[in-house]
Amino acid sequence: MSIAVSGVSKLYGQQKALDDVSFQIDKGNIVGFLGPNGAGKSTMMKIISCYIPQTEGTVKVCGYDVMDQSMEVRSRLGYLPENNPLYPEMYVREYLEFMGGIHKIPSIKSRVDEMIEQVGLTLERKKKIGALSKGYKQRVGLAQAMLHDPEVLILDEPTTGLDPNQIVEIRNLIKSIGAEKTVMLSTHIMQEVEAICDRVIIINKGGIVADDESKNLTSNNHAQVIRVEFDHQIEVNKINSIQYVNEVKRVDDNTWLIGSDSEKDIRPFIFEFAVANNLNVLTVQKEEQRLEDVFKKLTSS
Ligand code: ADP
Ligand code: MG
Repeated sequence: MSIAVSGVSKLYGQQKALDDVSFQIDKGNIVGFLGPNGAGKSTMMKIISCYIPQTEGTVKVCGYDVMDQSMEVRSRLGYLPENNPLYPEMYVREYLEFMGGIHKIPSIKSRVDEMIEQVGLTLERKKKIGALSKGYKQRVGLAQAMLHDPEVLILDEPTTGLDPNQIVEIRNLIKSIGAEKTVMLSTHIMQEVEAICDRVIIINKGGIVADDESKNLTSNNHAQVIRVEFDHQIEVNKINSIQYVNEVKRVDDNTWLIGSDSEKDIRPFIFEFAVANNLNVLTVQKEEQRLEDVFKKLTSS
């Protein structure tokens, strides 16, 4: 078990930022921590990374307690904080060597070379951090987090503020890193989770509202919705009578959205219905329910 969070609550003064949060993350997984602004994502990640203490509950990283064994935890964990605070006056190499010194990494120069190559900073390595684009600054942050070759990486909104090309590059980089490490990354963007994560933990108002494989959240949780276009008009009552249909919505004259909570694929029933009613089916299409819809449903309270 790489990360084990059990019954964690966090109070900032009177305000409860986390309320009895529990989850576990296995070694080698890439897990998305998804939630709207203010949900408690950064608070949870700071606690896991030994930056702030929890008010209640326990957190273990690779079996070590974040409160009692923080040195053990820090040596096994890399953390990219939200907004990636860097020193703009420092040169890329200088900064990474400085950070490596904090971790007391042996043969730091060659390790920094390795990291610069891995995160694709070779052409920028002699520049000042302040002169880099946001995407490259983020690479410096990732290199920093991985310098001491930690087993676990905690990345707080690693793609926020990047342009679309940079987002794709950083996502690919995280995916390749995730092949070897346990990665927990926070985001408020659903597509991000769909693009990189095996599993998603959804948090809202300090509490976990869903925890599952990304693919399960988008398939199990939903009623299937079929968009069908007939060649002429038909009354809504008739469509309602199709077997397993729970909800019908008219899109335009001849086009319908037909919803069902059944496990069975209802498309054959729609075809049978069409034949029985002398209708031709012009198009039939299964509407994909996206993580975004699931998220809206789970957090709209
Ligand atoms: P997220 O990262 O999901 O946007 P945060 O963990 O930053 O959420 O914040 C969770 C809640 O805790 C928010 O309501 C926020 O205002 C509050 N909060 C965060 N940090 C502090 C702090 N240092 N002092 C007081 N309240 C805080
Ligand atoms: Mg945050």
